[in-house]
Amino acid sequence: MARQTSKQPHHFQISIRPDDDHSRNVGSVLMQDINEAAKGHWPSILGALAGLSQQQLTDKHQPCPLCGGTDRYRFDDQDGNGSWFCNKCGGKTQSGGAGSGMDMLMRKNNWDFKRAASEVERQLGISKPKPSIPIKNAEAIYHYSEDLVVARVPDAKTGKSFRQLWFDGNKWVYKLPDKYKLPNSKPLFNLGKIRATKGWVLVTEGEKACEAAAKHFPTLACTTWSGGCKGHGKN
Ligand SMILES: [Zn+2]
Repeated sequence: MARQTSKQPHHFQISIRPDDDHSRNVGSVLMQDINEAAKGHWPSILGALAGLSQQQLTDKHQPCPLCGGTDRYRFDDQDGNGSWFCNKCGGKTQSGGAGSGMDMLMRKNNWDFKRAASEVERQLGISKPKPSIPIKNAEAIYHYSEDLVVARVPDAKTGKSFRQLWFDGNKWVYKLPDKYKLPNSKPLFNLGKIRATKGWVLVTEGEKACEAAAKHFPTLACTTWSGGCKGHGKN
C-alpha cells in the first residue's frame, strides 16, 4: 500500500514527545510539521506572539524589531514562511541576511524551539488554549508579560502578599526561569515591552498606576515592580 505523503496543515497533531531531544530534532520531522502548519499565517502569528506591528510586517525598509537601526530590515514573507531580512542581525550567523518567521519568534521572545512550536500550535488552534492561572483566592492578577504574572493574595499576617507565576509553555509554575531573574532585583512589569522599546520607559508606583499609565501613554513602555518604587533591589 502506498504511503500517503501529502500533508494537510491543521489536520495533524504535532507531536512533542517528552523524550525528544530538540537540539537534535530541529531540522527533521518536527520542524517540518510546524513550519507546514504555520505557512501563510506568520503575519498574524508574529503580530500576536512577537508583538510586531502592522508596519513591521510589510516589505518596506525600516528599523529592525530585533536590533533597531533605520532601514536595515524588511518583512517579505516569501512562500508564506514569514521570512524577513536584516542586513545587521539576520542570517544563520546573525551578522546579516534572511531569517524565517520561526527565527523571529524565537529571538524576539528569547524562546527555544520547543516553546516557540507549542505557542504556534496554540495560536493556530491546533492545541488547547492556555490554561487559566491556578490561583483561586487572588485579589488581583497583574500581567507582567505574556508568560509572567504576579498575583496579589490575602495574607493573614501582612494583609497581602504577592506570588509570581510563569507559563512554561504547558502550565503555570512558581519557579521563575533565569531570564526573569535580574541580579539583585524583582521581575519588572511589562518586561517584553521594555526590551522592545527604543523610547522612554515610565516607572510608576504599583501595577494599577502602571496599567492606567499604559492606557494614557500607549507609546511609552510602562513598568513597576512589587514592593513599590523603593522596593527595588530589596528582594
Ligand atoms: Zn536586525
